[in-house]
Amino acid sequence: MKLNKEFDIKNTASTSAPSFRNFPMVPRVVYGRGSFSELGAVLMPHRKNSDAPCIFLVDDVFEGTSLVNRIPLIFNDQVIFISAEEEPKTDQVDALVSKIKHDFSERPSAIIGIGGGTLLDLAKAVAILLSNSGNAANYQGWDLVRKAAVYHVGIPTISGTGAEVSRTTVLLGPEKKLGINSDFTIFDQVLLDPDLTEGVTKEQWFYTGMDCFIHCVESLNGTYLNAFSQSYGEKAMDLCTEVFLGDLSPSDAREKLMMASWHGGMSIAYSQVGVAHAMSYGLSFLLGVKHGIGNCLVFQHLNDYYPEGVALFKQMMAKHHIALPEGVCAGLSDEAFDTMVAVSLKMEPLWENALGKDWRSKMTPARLRTLYEKI
Ligand code: NAD
Ligand code: ZN
Repeated sequence: MKLNKEFDIKNTASTSAPSFRNFPMVPRVVYGRGSFSELGAVLMPHRKNSDAPCIFLVDDVFEGTSLVNRIPLIFNDQVIFISAEEEPKTDQVDALVSKIKHDFSERPSAIIGIGGGTLLDLAKAVAILLSNSGNAANYQGWDLVRKAAVYHVGIPTISGTGAEVSRTTVLLGPEKKLGINSDFTIFDQVLLDPDLTEGVTKEQWFYTGMDCFIHCVESLNGTYLNAFSQSYGEKAMDLCTEVFLGDLSPSDAREKLMMASWHGGMSIAYSQVGVAHAMSYGLSFLLGVKHGIGNCLVFQHLNDYYPEGVALFKQMMAKHHIALPEGVCAGLSDEAFDTMVAVSLKMEPLWENALGKDWRSKMTPARLRTLYEKI
């Protein structure tokens, strides 16, 4: 079984990693509609003393909403609102860690991320950097983290990325976009309350939800597939089909998509993603296109690789009246195409999973450029 190297553009660990890994899972989960009210009780045993706060990193979309009043603040706990407009950056993590160290004499009892993949990744990274010296950029890579992170909790408010179960936090650094992949990255506790996803716009619901659907397609059609990944991938795929093509009530759809995200994340943990993610990475690197919509922009053109998945995707788009932007790559220079192609082709495990060991003969730079030109 191979580790998930999603977002790997350096791919340095792929050759040295052992074939079988002792993969950590989230040890504790609270699930259920309304379960956000359990948060105070969940945190209580982890509070070290009244000077060691719980720090809540919260998507600023919730500023001024009733959710904020439900955050169980006591002692000197702090809420920090953060925008999810841009994907997380290493210097943003460093600034947050400096602020927390400056504001409090004691190391926090807990870091709690409340939001989508952006806030979940920030919470993971801040928790790591509070107990490991240096800058976030020093830890981008595989298993570079030496000390356990501060106890950290993930509370997703939008479903699809699987960031709530993954052992990575994807950060844009000064030189590279790469995850901090480590056993210490994984959340100590996740709280899954489907009601928290209620306010998501239809477009964003679709883009982030399709991240999960595409995880399933790429995992289930990959050469790395194994029974572990397949069992989670098939369940997630069934749930996605129900959510995006069925006739569920809104609250059932929220519950099922939250579980699809979880299972999709578990599926790629022990297999790998594929062509859409490899290409989406190039788009994101060059144009700053966000993960969910980037995957959709690419996936619609991958009929040659995932015919059944693309057919389903198009049905889902039609059912929900989703119109993707067009001409995203129109007018790009040769140099820009070369950059995207180079970044994408560095994602070797993704290509190998998608196309097999001889993937280089199947996906040439020219062929890849032609695909980008369609976007
Ligand atoms: P996001 O966190 O970027 O948020 C997308 C938008 O939805 C934002 O505008 C946000 O404010 C809004 N939003 C979130 N919850 C809402 C709610 N309940 N109501 C209204 N609006 C809400 O979305 P995402 O797609 O979950 O995350 C993308 C990020 O996740 C990227 O940075 C990507 O790199 C990362 N990612 C990480 C992993 C991992 O394993 N760590 C996997 C995939 C993606
Ligand atoms: Zn993804």
